[in-house]
Amino acid sequence: MNSTVETHEVVNQSPPLSGINLFTSDPALAALVEGIPNAVIDQLVTHGQVWGTPETFELGRIANASPPVLKPFDPNGARIDVVEFHPAWHALMRRSIAAGVHSSTWDATDAESSVRSLARAARLFMTVQAEAGHLGPISATNAAVAALAHAPDLAGQWLPKIRSRQYDSAARPMQDKKGVTLGVALAEKQAGSDLAATTTRAEDAGDGSWRITGHKWFVSAPMSDAFVILARTRDGLSCFLMPRFLPGGRRNAIRLMRLKDKLGNRSNATAEIEIDGATGFLIGEIGRGLAAIQDMVTLTRLDCTVGSAGLIRIAVAEAVHHARHREAFGEVLLEQPLMNRVLADMALDAVAAAALAFRLAESYDRASNDPAEAAFARLMTPAAKYWIGKIAPALIAEAMECLGGNGYVEESRLPRLYREAPVNAIWEGPGNIMCLEVMRVMRKSSEPLEAVLATIEDALGGTAKSTLNVLRAAAAVALADEGSARVLTEQLAMTVAAASLRRRFPSVIADAFVETRLGKPWRSTYGMLDSRFDATAFINYICPAV
Ligand SMILES: Cc1cc2nc3c(=O)[nH]c(=O)nc-3n(C[C@H](O)[C@H](O)[C@H](O)COP(=O)(O)OP(=O)(O)OC[C@H]3O[C@@H](n4cnc5c(N)ncnc54)[C@H](O)[C@@H]3O)c2cc1C
Repeated sequence: MNSTVETHEVVNQSPPLSGINLFTSDPALAALVEGIPNAVIDQLVTHGQVWGTPETFELGRIANASPPVLKPFDPNGARIDVVEFHPAWHALMRRSIAAGVHSSTWDATDAESSVRSLARAARLFMTVQAEAGHLGPISATNAAVAALAHAPDLAGQWLPKIRSRQYDSAARPMQDKKGVTLGVALAEKQAGSDLAATTTRAEDAGDGSWRITGHKWFVSAPMSDAFVILARTRDGLSCFLMPRFLPGGRRNAIRLMRLKDKLGNRSNATAEIEIDGATGFLIGEIGRGLAAIQDMVTLTRLDCTVGSAGLIRIAVAEAVHHARHREAFGEVLLEQPLMNRVLADMALDAVAAAALAFRLAESYDRASNDPAEAAFARLMTPAAKYWIGKIAPALIAEAMECLGGNGYVEESRLPRLYREAPVNAIWEGPGNIMCLEVMRVMRKSSEPLEAVLATIEDALGGTAKSTLNVLRAAAAVALADEGSARVLTEQLAMTVAAASLRRRFPSVIADAFVETRLGKPWRSTYGMLDSRFDATAFINYICPAV
């Protein structure tokens, strides 16, 4: 009979992947930000340390296990429209805001000033690995500043509080707070992608403000201090800033009707709201609402892209970590030929997604001085969001399977990553809408496609000719046949990913990606890497042992 000690001993289970520095344990991330000032690298190392601690990961778990609760009324029946969050949520918000993830695009100084988008992308990429939901308000706040740029007076009032590194969750007017966050209220029941169908109305109050009446169907972070909102005026769709409180302390007429019961992103609250003559302030020109939100939407799409790449990274790191420690049939999983090939193939997509997302962030930094980079960003933002957002759920499912049954259990973290992944593909424009945006950009001018092709040629050199021909042909077909736009969008994203890999990594990585993703017929599962490539070397390079 076995001794009690033997029957209780736990063997052959992998230790948790936590207590890691999310920057120093990720050589690909280091390669993608190589060349930026050392002072910024030092900050990224610190960020990776803070966000990789077991405590931070645990905050992420708790914030999702204890989702927010709507409190529409106080005990006496008066409306308060408050959302109550677990302290773990507030702790995550505090950390992200202290690190400036909510606003550093707009106040990066000195060392970071020329690489602000890239540096912020690196922080976001690491933060999302610990917890994604709280990045809703963090990302919305950063993006909303682009809309405020169309209203200098409002920006003057709100920017100092937005840029603050102090998280202040109190429900009170902006003037009385140490720091604020912003939300976005665009989608309505009958109008999401097609915002021209917005029915919420705004009427000039004659005192410099507007009265907004209507509803919004999805408003994430409804406890934000103000919302960028679209509403219809007599002169067309216009953009407004609608504060939660009015100066003097009165609540604005925004009612939280209910919170969505969502697949994932559960730490974050997403509300349906009704607006009953709420006060708003015009952003940009009357009737030019869609123009006023354009840059805001674009910045959010960049965050979706980087966020998906981060989710993929941590899922693949978890899979590799498990396979390094788990034995089956007398051998470590990582060393078994099939698992080895599956992990290497997944790692290849993970590093390609990161390379594409960071190349996109770089183009935002260069856009103001380089028209070709601005054109690149216009075309590649929807294409990158499309491809990375689309591969994330399947890749994370495969990573989950690498952990076997443990991967399906909440404690492993993979279920949360899996539930989170699809949202980045849906919000701020689902897949088809991204393809339509690619087509819109191409129809407007030939410059963006030429800028992207030049980037590819520059990186891939002599081998690029046939690739460029394929892309030109796909572009011509898509311009004639909108239904084929997904073919072009996917090809664009994967080819730029390959070019970005070539710039930053040993050429064999780009070669493997090109050969398996661009040079062969479509395949839909992982493990298809050719045996000529050294799968173990790929894995160890992309996910070294920690
Ligand atoms: C968790 C979550 C949080 C959100 N938070 C916010 C928020 O804070 N603020 C906010 O404003 N919104 C928010 N949204 C809304 C989100 O941005 C919209 O759901 C999204 O933009 C899609 O709009 P829709 O739901 O109306 O879908 P629709 O626009 O109806 O699209 C449905 C489908 O039709 C496709 N489609 C649409 N038009 C075409 C076409 N012409 N050709 C081919 N296919 C087409 C789309 O690709 C999609 O697959 C949130 C959504 C979610 C899920």
